[in-house]
Amino acid sequence: MQLQTNIESPRLEIRSLRKRFGNRQVVDNVSLSVQPGQVTCLLGPSGCGKSTTLRMIAGVEMQDSGEIYVDGELICDTVFRIPPERRQIGLMFQDFALFPHMSVADNVAFGLKGAAGEKRRRVEELLAKVNLSWAIDKFPHVLSGGEQQRVALARALAPRPRIMLMDEPFSGLDNRLRDGIRDETLAVLKEEDTAVLLVTHEPEEAMRMADEIALMRDGEIVQQGAPYNIYNAPVDKQAVAFFSDIN
Ligand code: ADP
Ligand code: MG
Repeated sequence: MQLQTNIESPRLEIRSLRKRFGNRQVVDNVSLSVQPGQVTCLLGPSGCGKSTTLRMIAGVEMQDSGEIYVDGELICDTVFRIPPERRQIGLMFQDFALFPHMSVADNVAFGLKGAAGEKRRRVEELLAKVNLSWAIDKFPHVLSGGEQQRVALARALAPRPRIMLMDEPFSGLDNRLRDGIRDETLAVLKEEDTAVLLVTHEPEEAMRMADEIALMRDGEIVQQGAPYNIYNAPVDKQAVAFFSDIN
């Protein structure tokens, strides 16, 4: 009988990441991982260092120390650095601008390489997944905010990134739409089997979307675990207060 070794590297792992701006330690010894197919949520109040952490993973900001691994492969430490465009990392930010002069199809195909037919098939597949097949030849300005958001998701997923980084992607959306779009986005991410590091300052969003929550404060991770555990056993009074907004 063959022994099954089921040791899989995390999709993303960061170890002891540090970043200082001036004399402020903005990211202080942050370690976390995202497992394949899962959503890890980096949750914390505004200014605690979430976006800086994400920018270092994306490769647009350089850490002072610490290492970043994708699928067990070192992509960045203080001496070695794979450039952002070669990290196979997908990005979605709050101000996710689509290219206004390009059709929906061209927006989604933007990061794709290969034969035209192949690209077209991937675009069609993704637009079907986000329920926007009808919009393939439209231009962004005729779409609603929620629809544009779904195009942005399709665009980010098109090249099959190894990990998707999302920085408060829903905060620009109307309250009424937000829950629906969160759920749809999650469903598509799961269907594509994409691992996600999601940044948010809203506990409710983390509870709704995360498999794992890393609670961040003043540049440090103060607690990490399953949403249920974090919610039911907050690490200290500040964490209790932070979660008390959820109704
Ligand atoms: P968050 O995303 O959690 O709101 P950020 O990572 O954007 O927090 O910022 C953390 C802190 O670092 C903030 O006080 C911010 O003003 C500061 N900061 C971010 N980027 C820079 C920069 N390029 N230069 C100086 N300070 C910065
Ligand atoms: Mg931020």
